[in-house]
Amino acid sequence: MIRVRRTIVAGNWKMNMDHVEGAALAGDIAAGLEGREPSCEIVLIPPFTTLLSVMSAIEGSGIAAGAQNLWYEEKGAFTGEISAGMIFSLGCRYVLVGHSERRHVIGEGSDILFRKLRAALSGGLSPIYCVGETLDERESGSAAEVVTEQIGEVLTGLSSEEMERTRIAYEPVWAIGTGRTATPGDAGSMHEVIRGVISKIFGAEAAEETPILYGGSVKPGNAAELLAMKDIDGALVGGASLDAGSFLGIVFPA
Ligand code: PEP
Repeated sequence: MIRVRRTIVAGNWKMNMDHVEGAALAGDIAAGLEGREPSCEIVLIPPFTTLLSVMSAIEGSGIAAGAQNLWYEEKGAFTGEISAGMIFSLGCRYVLVGHSERRHVIGEGSDILFRKLRAALSGGLSPIYCVGETLDERESGSAAEVVTEQIGEVLTGLSSEEMERTRIAYEPVWAIGTGRTATPGDAGSMHEVIRGVISKIFGAEAAEETPILYGGSVKPGNAAELLAMKDIDGALVGGASLDAGSFLGIVFPA
């Protein structure tokens, strides 16, 4: 099968790796790519304080960097926050928006996520917009409805150029950091639902071109079967991205 979309494997380090540990891990990942041609784009998403060290460790390796969060204003009295422009000026091109830990632990709702997504795009970044249902929502049969709403309420109104720069990650909340993974069939059907929603809002071509990553306990042992699904265009990896061997095992699935 010929994919029109390039696969992306992104490692979300969450609140792990200080700048010394992060440089070492990024260096090990870059070294593991030497002499090999990955078929996917690789993105490392460390904490803000580790970004610069990671970026110098991956220089020339073809690996891209991303940030885990941003604030939606350009500058000003927002103590502790970081703007899209600050991230962009480092040479970073990606930023996560709507990660389940931001939604459910920090309490970010659709209004704030909408503003963050637009700020990321206006600042020249490519947002990786994360969506996913909770276990209750899956068990009550409303997973597709929840995910459809999460997509519609934040992406509607983007220009086609902005949609082109946007990536989606489907991450069922019950699969994140739990060791429990959606079956390739369940994940694949939700990706199909998401592509259908994008098609309704932006048209079939935009839907075909949008990379939709799966996240939720992806590891070397399950990556190949997930990535083989036609609508799964890569992985957003948490725990398994903290070890060079396991991350590379996802980049080069057996
Ligand atoms: C994540 O943090 O986006 C994630 C999917 O985590 P894990 O791979 O550990 O489930």
